[in-house]
Amino acid sequence: MKYPLHLIKLIETLKKLPGVGTKSAERFAFHMLDWQPQQLREMSTIIADMPSQLCCCPTCGCLEDNGSCPFCIPERLQHQKLCIIACAKEAFAIEATGEFHGCFHVLGTLLSPMSGKGADMIDMDKLFRRIKSNNVTEVVIALDSTLEGDATALYLKSALTHAGVTISRLAFGIPMGSSLEYVDGGTLAKAFSGRSPY
Ligand SMILES: [Zn+2]
Repeated sequence: MKYPLHLIKLIETLKKLPGVGTKSAERFAFHMLDWQPQQLREMSTIIADMPSQLCCCPTCGCLEDNGSCPFCIPERLQHQKLCIIACAKEAFAIEATGEFHGCFHVLGTLLSPMSGKGADMIDMDKLFRRIKSNNVTEVVIALDSTLEGDATALYLKSALTHAGVTISRLAFGIPMGSSLEYVDGGTLAKAFSGRSPY
């Protein structure tokens, strides 16, 4: 016996979310069958309003809040530091550490020649303009420790060589609270090469 058509549509839609397979989507869909019509309408309205309510700052690419960007305020510009991230979500994760008080710059993508994402996908002119207009002295590259992240970091390092800024990249190494015995070889090698004076 097949599910009713609308339920199949709901399950297929939920499966578009990352990490949601058929089983999870079915569980969510059957759970939503118990919701009141008002709850379902509220959820659909929130999702439908996303394009108008959640906009990216034209300057840094982070998410705006009520029409203004919380990451482009004058107090942050004073620090003359620019942290390059791949997507807007990462700004919130870095912000939560309390370690960085400068501005962010969202690339929007990582270089991946295999997927057709070459250097032309990165707007270097915009990055250079920000470095100049904000009198940036340090650029922090906060990209993934993956092939794509490493390739993008190398490209940025090379492109910014003559930009008159200090370039740093987040350290990679042993996760907090973990034992060396369980750390994989690649992570341990990166931790070794990135060791700092103690
Ligand atoms: Zn901004």
